[in-house]
Amino acid sequence: MTPDHRRVLIAGGGPVGLLCAWLLGRRGLPVVLFDDNDGPQADPRAATTHPATLELLSEDGIADDMARAGLIAPIFQFWDRPSGQLVAEFDHAVLKHDTRYPYVVQCEQFKTAKLILARLRNLPNVDLLFNHEIVDVAQSESSISVEVRAQDGTATYAGAYLIGADGGRSAVRKQCGIAFEGFTWPERFIVFTTPYDFEANKGYCYRSYFADPGSWCNCFKVSADGPPGLWRTVFPTDPSQPEQDLTSDAAVQALMQKFFPSPEPYEVVHRNLYVTHQRVAATFRKGRALLAGDAAHVNNPIGGMGLNGGIQDAANLCEKLTRVLLGREPDRLLDLYDLQRRTVAIEFVQEQSIANKNRLEARDPELRRRNLDELRQIAADQERARQFLLRTSMIASQRRAAALELAEA
Ligand SMILES: Cc1cc2nc3c(=O)[nH]c(=O)nc-3n(C[C@H](O)[C@H](O)[C@H](O)COP(=O)(O)OP(=O)(O)OC[C@H]3O[C@@H](n4cnc5c(N)ncnc54)[C@H](O)[C@@H]3O)c2cc1C
Repeated sequence: MTPDHRRVLIAGGGPVGLLCAWLLGRRGLPVVLFDDNDGPQADPRAATTHPATLELLSEDGIADDMARAGLIAPIFQFWDRPSGQLVAEFDHAVLKHDTRYPYVVQCEQFKTAKLILARLRNLPNVDLLFNHEIVDVAQSESSISVEVRAQDGTATYAGAYLIGADGGRSAVRKQCGIAFEGFTWPERFIVFTTPYDFEANKGYCYRSYFADPGSWCNCFKVSADGPPGLWRTVFPTDPSQPEQDLTSDAAVQALMQKFFPSPEPYEVVHRNLYVTHQRVAATFRKGRALLAGDAAHVNNPIGGMGLNGGIQDAANLCEKLTRVLLGREPDRLLDLYDLQRRTVAIEFVQEQSIANKNRLEARDPELRRRNLDELRQIAADQERARQFLLRTSMIASQRRAAALELAEA
């Protein structure tokens, strides 16, 4: 193949698209990335980066840079909101023989994106085209092309493959006619960001989950602009209430006070409302188009698995794409990407994130008691805690993907 015939087009400059660009670009492959924004967006989304993902980001020190830019969180806790009791505490230290990273790193996704972007700037074979929106996709047996809208008009770009990393509303997925199977939660999720120090005032660690009949809360810390950092709380909202009622000062304070009673009102510096889905694309590959990240799968944020899954897609896909483009493997290797990553998206990420939500919001008193007792028993037994953490830290899903590759070999 001539260099131009190996060109990879990437839709989306979120963390997944940028990582794909870097993984391919540093192997000398020509890459053009398009994003409809003017750069990484700073809205409060992913922060939790699990051990299995840190392993994949160890090259060129990205994981270490993330730990420096963010916070190391070895422990997470489950609390019972009505009684105020700590139910269970899990320490990733039990994974010390399973991973080089027996902890989670809390690093906001725009910081991760910027760390990758800085590395991309040194690669002359990677073109980053921000303010460029992909509006159409067409493919033949030998190439794929995209129509791109920019300020100065539209243009067509062709390449060997197209990676659709353009988020949950993926134009690539839609243009390729790939169904996004699953459902949308009726309740939207709301995120409040506050400087209130939950560790000093309430004894919470950097990742805490709260069970409450018919509700729940995730409370976690991010480093923000440096010490002392900020805390984010995520809650479900009432589907019948309009947005202005959910985000009013009175509603914000009522929700915060219900979960975290305090004599003072909370200072809330950001409030963001999200529609949340559980969906997986019917296939991650259609000819020369490959889906990765939120374009391929979306889930609720309890457990922090969405972007982690996307980074794992990027690593898996780009390793295979490199082998194909360098002529070492036939193109059918890319079917294995679909098999591995789609299987774990369904068997692990969808399953686990829905189970996490159900466990926290269970209403039936007997079911709640059983759920919380089970967490206590798992935390008290080192081997059961290790097995539990292998799933939550996404090591088990990576092992499942590796087993699928062996079975196909
Ligand atoms: C409240 C909340 C908390 C979360 N917490 C976590 C967490 O702790 N851990 C975790 O792993 N995940 C978490 N997630 C999920 C995580 O944010 C997403 O999985 C992640 O953003 C996916 O990255 P991505 O690069 O695939 O997509 P995106 O970040 O959505 O990036 C897609 C990019 O494509 C661009 N784009 C879209 N359409 C086009 C087009 N037609 N042409 C060109 N460009 C286009 C967009 O502008 C965007 O820049 C959370 C999500 C929410 C809402």
